Amino acid sequence: METSIKLNNEVFDIEKIRSDFPILHQLVHKKPLCYLDNAASTQKPKVVIDSISDFYSTTNSNIHRGVHFLSEKATQNYENTRTTVKDFLNAKSEKEIIFTSGTTSSINLIANTYGRKNVNKGDEIIVTNMEHHSNIVPWQILCEEKNANLRVLPINNNGELILEKFNELITERTKLISVVHVSNSLGTINPIKKIIEIAHKNNIPVLVDAAQSIQHLEVDVQKLDCDFLAFSGHKIYGPTGVGVLYGKENLLEEMPPFMGGGDMISKVTFEETTFNDLPFKFEAGTGNIAGVIGLAAAIDYVKSIGLENINKHEAKLLNSATEKLSEIKGLKIIGTAKEKTSVLSFVVGNIHPHDIGTFLDFEGIAIRTGHHCTQPVMDYYKIPATSRASFAFYNTFDEVDHLTSALKKTIEVLS
Ligand code: PLP
Repeated sequence: METSIKLNNEVFDIEKIRSDFPILHQLVHKKPLCYLDNAASTQKPKVVIDSISDFYSTTNSNIHRGVHFLSEKATQNYENTRTTVKDFLNAKSEKEIIFTSGTTSSINLIANTYGRKNVNKGDEIIVTNMEHHSNIVPWQILCEEKNANLRVLPINNNGELILEKFNELITERTKLISVVHVSNSLGTINPIKKIIEIAHKNNIPVLVDAAQSIQHLEVDVQKLDCDFLAFSGHKIYGPTGVGVLYGKENLLEEMPPFMGGGDMISKVTFEETTFNDLPFKFEAGTGNIAGVIGLAAAIDYVKSIGLENINKHEAKLLNSATEKLSEIKGLKIIGTAKEKTSVLSFVVGNIHPHDIGTFLDFEGIAIRTGHHCTQPVMDYYKIPATSRASFAFYNTFDEVDHLTSALKKTIEVLS
């Protein structure tokens, strides 16, 4: 295995990085694990695992409500994560950072609060043809309830958004544009800043689904000027069951709460309840305290490697894999946008992606096969599914070679 790669005169020590991830060092079907399913979920470095284990071993207690030592310590660690996330996103204030269970729940929160308050009969919400189901279904439910309409920005054959079509889609009834930053099935990086500029010229707020960008690219909410942004901890080397909703403070202030319960109130009587201040107004009940604390460890870890270094290494992996897989007869890459993250979706003739995935598994290779919760993308390309290899910064060029040769072998057997 290559041990160090030079990036901009900095040494990217891949062996050292891999040693931070305990799960990577195991055999699967007697072959070394080659984990290429990072767009579905990333693996966790030991610092993240340790932070969760330490929390339960030393600090476990409920937050915000206790006057005792452990509760105060747990509260401090939990709130420190809010500051870590605020700094990572360059938000203006901790009040703009709400902990949720993930991207899906963050988007549902906006649909149920901002959406329910502001979308009325005949109004419109715009999404794109490359959204994850998480950024389609909540809006469909809202539109159904409100008798509103969901409109869709189309894509071209490379898997890029056709921005010019915004002219036809945006009307005075458009209440929100909700758009994915990076497509999980195509890898396309959308020109999110430009989309936000177009939307804001028309006084339309924008929600950014950052589930697939937060782990690859700098996401600066002030530079982007997005109104809402959602991401999941497990895609950025953190725990499952924790996520973030960013919202501009003035918008969050005006929104009604989503779930009612403990922690989100300031006073309850049977006659009237008043709600807590931001961000607690949107955090009803006991959340995933250990997960939130683990998320801070994940963000600190990513910062220690550096998003720029991560991006450069992953771009090299993507280029190498794209070049090698393109040479395989009958293989067609789905998603050939100019700007991509390290996601490589492909189909091979009539071979079902599930068969490819199963054969590769026997070689120790984990890829994802299916519609990737983006059935409208599959419909656009008139295919039921793709095979998808997605790379993280702990992947190696040897693994790209292993994927290539295992794939050739698989196709030979299945053709
Ligand atoms: N949006 C995108 C682009 C995704 O890739 C995913 C997960 O794959 C989601 C939303 C949903 O994320 P979660 O299941 O963590 O809520």
